Amino acid sequence: MFKEILVQSVKKPVTNLFPAVRLPKSITGFLGDVANGKATITPPVAEPKAFRGKIVYDRAACNGCGLCLKVCPAHAIEQVVYPPVKISVTDAEGNVSEKTKTEKRIRIYVASCIFCGQCIDICSKDALSMSNEFLLATEDRFAESQIVE
Ligand code: SF4
Ligand code: SF4
Repeated sequence: MFKEILVQSVKKPVTNLFPAVRLPKSITGFLGDVANGKATITPPVAEPKAFRGKIVYDRAACNGCGLCLKVCPAHAIEQVVYPPVKISVTDAEGNVSEKTKTEKRIRIYVASCIFCGQCIDICSKDALSMSNEFLLATEDRFAESQIVE
């Protein structure tokens, strides 16, 4: 034990002092100083491989199947059904007809997400993935940054 105390007393702390070396009196004031170039943020540690950060949604790849909603344990995903639109369809013989198409997509509430990755695993269209973004704290759970759609 004495040896361990000796080693620890000369070792540098492994904690990353993020976002500042000393806790600022006011976080808002500190962020203001950062914006004005008077202070700098201690960079976060590099994210490990396969880090589970803010979810990314490829709306164009999604077919609106709704499977991700069913597996999400946090109920962080809802389906969005857009009003039907008329589209022109051309058949094999070149005949053009009009059809009504209802578009279904999803909306993800980041504040509710627990980053489990279940929705990504179930999506057969590879429309969902995770980014390395983790600075997600906000006072408004419905802020633009907290909604992915
Ligand atoms: S994201 Fe994937 S699983 Fe979810 S509705 Fe779209 S296609 Fe289906
Ligand atoms: S990662 Fe998990 S909690 Fe987050 S939206 Fe997907 S299924 Fe829901």
